[in-house]
Amino acid sequence: MTPTSSRAGRRLVAVALPVPIHGTFTYSVAGDPPAPGTRVRVPFGRQERIGWVVGEGSAEGVSKVRPVLDVLDERPSIAPELLDVCRWMAQYYAAPPGLAIAATQPAVLSDVSRDYIGLDGEPPAEAGSRVVRLVDALREGEAGSLHRVATLRKRLGMGSIWPEIRALKAAGVLRHEVVPPQEPSVKTHRVVRTLRDLPDLAERDEIFGRAHRQREAWAALEDASGRLELSHMLDVGGFSRSVVSGLEAKGLVEVVDEEVVRDPFADRDPPAPIDHPLTDDQRRALEAIRAEIGADAPRPVLLHGITGSGKTRVYIEVLKAVIARGRGAIVLVPEISLTPQTVTRFRGWFGDRVAVLHSALSDGERYDAWRQLHRGEKTVAVGARSALFAPVANLGAIIVDEEHDGSYKQSDAPRYQARDLAVVRAGLNRAVCVLGSATPSLESWANAEKGKYQRVSLPVRVAGRPLPPVHLLDLRKERSKPKTAGGAASEAGLVLTDRLVQAVLARLERNEQSILLLNRRGYASFVQCRECGEVGQCPNCSISLTYHRRTGRVVCHHCRYEEPAPSRCSRCGSTDLSFRGLGTEQVERVVVESFPGARVARMDVDTTSGKWAHHEILGRVERGEVDILLGTQMIAKGLDFPRVTLVGVVNADVGIHLPDFRASERTFQLLSQVAGRAGRGELGGEVLIQTSLPEHYALQSALDHDYPGFARRELEERLNPPYPPHVRLANVVISSPDDNVAADQAEAAVAWLRHGLRNGPAVTIVGPAPAPIERLHGRWRWHFLLRAARASDLGRVCRGFVRGFQPRGHDVRVALDRDPVAL
Ligand code: ADP
Ligand code: ZN
Ligand code: ZN
Repeated sequence: MTPTSSRAGRRLVAVALPVPIHGTFTYSVAGDPPAPGTRVRVPFGRQERIGWVVGEGSAEGVSKVRPVLDVLDERPSIAPELLDVCRWMAQYYAAPPGLAIAATQPAVLSDVSRDYIGLDGEPPAEAGSRVVRLVDALREGEAGSLHRVATLRKRLGMGSIWPEIRALKAAGVLRHEVVPPQEPSVKTHRVVRTLRDLPDLAERDEIFGRAHRQREAWAALEDASGRLELSHMLDVGGFSRSVVSGLEAKGLVEVVDEEVVRDPFADRDPPAPIDHPLTDDQRRALEAIRAEIGADAPRPVLLHGITGSGKTRVYIEVLKAVIARGRGAIVLVPEISLTPQTVTRFRGWFGDRVAVLHSALSDGERYDAWRQLHRGEKTVAVGARSALFAPVANLGAIIVDEEHDGSYKQSDAPRYQARDLAVVRAGLNRAVCVLGSATPSLESWANAEKGKYQRVSLPVRVAGRPLPPVHLLDLRKERSKPKTAGGAASEAGLVLTDRLVQAVLARLERNEQSILLLNRRGYASFVQCRECGEVGQCPNCSISLTYHRRTGRVVCHHCRYEEPAPSRCSRCGSTDLSFRGLGTEQVERVVVESFPGARVARMDVDTTSGKWAHHEILGRVERGEVDILLGTQMIAKGLDFPRVTLVGVVNADVGIHLPDFRASERTFQLLSQVAGRAGRGELGGEVLIQTSLPEHYALQSALDHDYPGFARRELEERLNPPYPPHVRLANVVISSPDDNVAADQAEAAVAWLRHGLRNGPAVTIVGPAPAPIERLHGRWRWHFLLRAARASDLGRVCRGFVRGFQPRGHDVRVALDRDPVAL
């Protein structure tokens, strides 16, 4: 028996399964083994799973090899090139290989969570509250009907419900069926189509009489060239089903099923592209990038272009060059920038070649876009983070816009950084990778300084438009002024200074638009002196101390340093300390009170929960229906509204005190990005930043629009104590429902590592300490950092740790995050 064949005619294959286990699984298959990247259905414990063949299997150490149940693809669903990316990802991020692959594929292709359960008898009278909740949920709908376990679990928000399912099974009152997975269906939509015209008014009056809603529905259909999706008429148009039925009964419309490719952007007609001649800077940047397109080993390009410098136009020319060579391309944009505004710009140039991958797409919509790329019907993928894995054949370019953006980091396993993986995937394909930003991440900037990346710059805005002047308004001075009628105050102190109020009033008078930013994140409280602006910092970590209300202490989340919450300022001795920040909701109230009659829109996580909610708000701004747009960082990115002539930052200090070594970098990026929203049109603009720390270098650099100056200073700050990009980090979070267990196991993990590291590579451990978010989803979290000068040393330790360390105790989870963006 050779390692790769078990019985005559049967071969062994290694299968990666989407489960959080490090390693692959061996199964046997009749005849020729399927090519790597092919999906197979296999037994797994008492369940079934879909996984991917990744190579030859080995029977070593396996007592009984089970057979593959089904080979699901004729042609592998993952190309060899992308499979290599998955291998790299699993290795580098120390992630389970099956989860790495699953992250690159549409969910429907590996979805076997098709366990269905239903009640089959009377449940026992004595049952725990979780069982009772499950039983209640099962009783909904028709008696005896089956419910999908995955859906139930999500709806109940209970985490795993298998213990409860087992309890009910043991009591003999549960039916459990596993429905075999099928190829995801091609979807049809109900569509309303008009069957005739109603050209003259008299006929209309006669037909509709007093049926006003029918008449309006008819007009809506006419406006839409005689065809609307039924759901659109009901949800967006607000017509009831009976109105549509009325039209049907009159023989005016039919309601039919239409097979559609689900593409929510398809309805919009892209505008014809404007073919401005390139500026000299744009041409220079383009030439540098083009030279890499044909190269044997193209060097990644960092396109450092200030806001409004025309980076998008450079991307478009790069895409043209790539397409002209018969190659495909991927464009990544931050989730929040994936607006119709962005999409139509690419659609305008490349029309039907473009597939859009948006996280707000349903699984089906996503699958449709994926299939079109997989079949080669589309060759350009535009999308957020996971679009990096689009099945684009013969890849010629990957463009990462706003490359510094935090949304490129995936927060669940495999915790990859799409910007870095873009460089990897491009490298494997000899494709050019363009990283664009006005405020590059310091990691990319350092790579450019080292010559690993080629740097090209667009230092001025197009059409000679100046960057808007920036003014810092010192909140310490403003606060001591007597309040005037226009100045608004609240319990959280001064919200809008007089100067900012006057500036907004001037815009309202001129019918121009204002943007007000406040990036307030709820969990981060801090202690700041009202007199001198001082914020309590950890003596060891150059990280601000977080105030813990429960214990009345301030704590460093890196090294566990802590002390009682101060009663007076450590710098000036003042007892006038402030313990809380201010949120957008409160600012909204102040704004509405201060500017009666102004049309105010607020955009933050709370107001944009709907699928297209933020597109809807931005649409209103674009159409001039909003005078003041207020919000968090969401409003800072990628928007191009020429009538916005004022940007006001309500409090620039909010982010600077987060317990995170990137706090200054984020603040500078945010201020620069939001400042870039002002003065993009002919009307010009200005930026007013309220702050208690006007001397801080992040603010001073933003004032001067000076990215290189900021980067120089910040790189210095990160030398001591050392932080990326000078060193490499991994963050390990140990969590458990029990605080003591989490703490114990974090200590155990560190002890395990120290033991292994005694003679090992140069990896330092910092911590353990309670995680900045100590409790999340009912779990207590402790964390520690692994720090190394060399990526390879850190990688070895990370892989050894995730494979070797076994936490003890009930329900303990270990999460390792390499190159973390949040600690
Ligand atoms: P960025 O992405 O760098 O912030 P954009 O690509 O959005 O900048 O360009 C800013 C504005 O300048 C857009 O309205 C764009 O249409 C316009 N623009 C870009 N390139 C040119 C050019 N060569 N000539 C004239 N206008 C241009
Ligand atoms: Zn003070
Ligand atoms: Zn510390």
